[in-house]
Amino acid sequence: MATETETAQTINADEIELKKFGELAHKWWDKNSEFKPLHEINPLRLDYIDSRADLKNKRVLDVGCGGGILSESMYFKGAAVTGIDLGEKALNVAKLHQYESGAKVDYRLVSVEQLASEQPASFDVVTCMEMLEHVPDPEAIVAACARLVKPGGAVFFSTINRSPKAYLFAVIGAEYVLNMLPKGTHDYAKFIKPSELSSWARHAGLDIAGLRGMSYNPITQHYSLGDDVSVNYLIHTQLSK
Ligand code: SAH
Repeated sequence: MATETETAQTINADEIELKKFGELAHKWWDKNSEFKPLHEINPLRLDYIDSRADLKNKRVLDVGCGGGILSESMYFKGAAVTGIDLGEKALNVAKLHQYESGAKVDYRLVSVEQLASEQPASFDVVTCMEMLEHVPDPEAIVAACARLVKPGGAVFFSTINRSPKAYLFAVIGAEYVLNMLPKGTHDYAKFIKPSELSSWARHAGLDIAGLRGMSYNPITQHYSLGDDVSVNYLIHTQLSK
């Protein structure tokens, strides 16, 4: 089996990013850890995906699944879920957590590009959440996701906008003021504007079907979905039939 270092050198992955997630992996299911934001946004994104793609009995691929927060929740909505990631430690945590939760997700250490050449057009729904801002060539990930979905199927992405407000909230606020995330979790230059993500999606043959912002209110300490896409956002795309 390829190690995290070997895989990162040869494919579209950033070794330092994978190492960062690897070092934190044991805390993945600790709701008060660095992964707290992922636990808090999960019900919102799960509802959004389920309301638009009806997960029951669907074949779903979760790209960059990490410890499996979204993958497991989609399984419990009735989907047959495959989760892929290049972080070996995160995947091990995901596999172990199933003993506790009873979820049955098929976790694999494989790049999205590799899987796309192995089994193109084989998933009803593909999700790729909070991962594009951590890779060297996000456009290639978007294209590989498009190759993996069946005609007419849905692909969902979420990431962070490259805006002054995102810099304030996601970098200065979350990392330095609230200490919600470790310093260096996010690199502003890698944030992606909705217009950029939309154009990569269209180039890959994906039509834009929906765009929602995910906002954090530091006073109430709650996330909500809305029209403000200036920090975190979710995009629903669809491959033409
Ligand atoms: N999608 C999950 C985890 C987000 S954290 C969620 O939203 O709950 C980002 C994840 O992307 C980490 O697990 C990291 O290991 C993974 N990752 C980073 N680069 C990757 C790549 N090139 N291919 C696959 N996974 C990658």
